Amino acid sequence: MNKLFAYLLGFLGLTVVALVISAIVLSRLSLAEADRKTYVPPIDESVPKAYNGEGQVIIVGAGASGLFAGYTLEYLGVPFTILEASPTFGGRVQRMEDFVDVPIDIGAEWIHTNPQILQDLLLIETDQESVKSNIETIGFQPQSFSLWAHGRRVQRNWMRFFYKEYKFKSTTWSQWLENYIVPYVQDHIVYNAVVQHVDYSETGDVSVTTADGVTYTGSKVIMAVPLKVLQDHDIQFSPALPADKTKALEEVYWAPGFKVFIEFQERFYTDMTMDITLTQFLQTENDYRIFFNGVFGKDQTSRNLMTLFCVGEPAREWSRLSDKELFETVLARLDQLYDGEASKQYIQHRIQNWSNQPFIRGAYAFSADSATIERPVGDKLFFATDTEIMVHSAALSGRRAAVEAVSNPISS
Ligand SMILES: Cc1cc2nc3c(=O)[nH]c(=O)nc-3n(C[C@H](O)[C@H](O)[C@H](O)COP(=O)(O)OP(=O)(O)OC[C@H]3O[C@@H](n4cnc5c(N)ncnc54)[C@H](O)[C@@H]3O)c2cc1C
Repeated sequence: MNKLFAYLLGFLGLTVVALVISAIVLSRLSLAEADRKTYVPPIDESVPKAYNGEGQVIIVGAGASGLFAGYTLEYLGVPFTILEASPTFGGRVQRMEDFVDVPIDIGAEWIHTNPQILQDLLLIETDQESVKSNIETIGFQPQSFSLWAHGRRVQRNWMRFFYKEYKFKSTTWSQWLENYIVPYVQDHIVYNAVVQHVDYSETGDVSVTTADGVTYTGSKVIMAVPLKVLQDHDIQFSPALPADKTKALEEVYWAPGFKVFIEFQERFYTDMTMDITLTQFLQTENDYRIFFNGVFGKDQTSRNLMTLFCVGEPAREWSRLSDKELFETVLARLDQLYDGEASKQYIQHRIQNWSNQPFIRGAYAFSADSATIERPVGDKLFFATDTEIMVHSAALSGRRAAVEAVSNPISS
């Protein structure tokens, strides 16, 4: 009897352990998340009426958040200028079209929510219809998985039951911005305008000065730059930012990150090769070194593209290497994982090292105190950020900052 009881207890114990492990795996993989719709708050039509219309809004940064701030202001009929440090829009949303025969996202790539968001974020009905009929997305659900375990690569295809996200099929995040947002804001963007000083003193207009000495004036400013730029004090504020915001910015962990794209003759690799152990994967939300089939689901191409997405601590050392050293290191690692096949099958590669981009300097922030960072300062200074590290949330943040800016009456 005692023995039976012990067996039963053991069985129950094992079941509980198995359930706990499954729950952890499920919570870390995104099967359930992929289809969940993101709520897009409606814009209150009375908002622009609260704005007395005197003076433009100045937006600093033309990434997804800055572009969406401008797009929202355009919709509301409020004048604005976007100052962008680089010669192009998009920030961390960029693509390459000359590598293989389909456009490839070199920054943000996945749609980390229900793709309905691509329509819901748009304020103009005809554009929503156009996205619906023209933009095809694919469920990115890799069928073969590898992991690093006990000093070698092991195949773990069961992981396919737990992982799914969405991606664009024949287009990219960058084309989506270019087609549906940029046309409404492009005439307002000033490129190569590196903002160095924002004066938002209580009286008078705000003034924003760039590295080439030009000053732009307006009634409000929306900061839509990477948190790293604020953390490193690239931009001086007069008066200085409040202490709690400065502290929250100091505490931001800005992760290094890069992508490497390699074309091979044959597809010798699994759809996803996680170059970390299962335990590391379950323990981290920040550190990834993941190789994946870069044209998964894009059946309009027969090219073999493998992408490496590396972010956080695994990227720290490698992101400091020259492009040549970085590529040699990556190829050597792939050869180790795939018994020398990578060198044998290699055709060409491309590197996008986000840590080297002068106005971005990394991939993104983890565990930022978004409430404190995004809180407006007085009624003149507003913040649009990507504290949730996704394009659609950066877009929502830009939209929110724009609405906040014009909801606040201007102090005279
Ligand atoms: C490698 C990588 C992979 C990613 N993968 C995904 C993904 O799959 N899916 C997803 O949803 N998200 C992903 N993200 C995150 C996503 O790209 C970002 O969250 C989002 O694009 C941030 O938009 P943003 O406008 O806030 O910032 P940014 O895109 O960084 O734009 C900020 C802009 O400010 C400009 N700027 C900086 N300093 C100044 C200055 N002094 N004066 C004027 N302008 C200035 C910059 O040039 C830049 O254009 C990824 C990011 C990286 C790096």
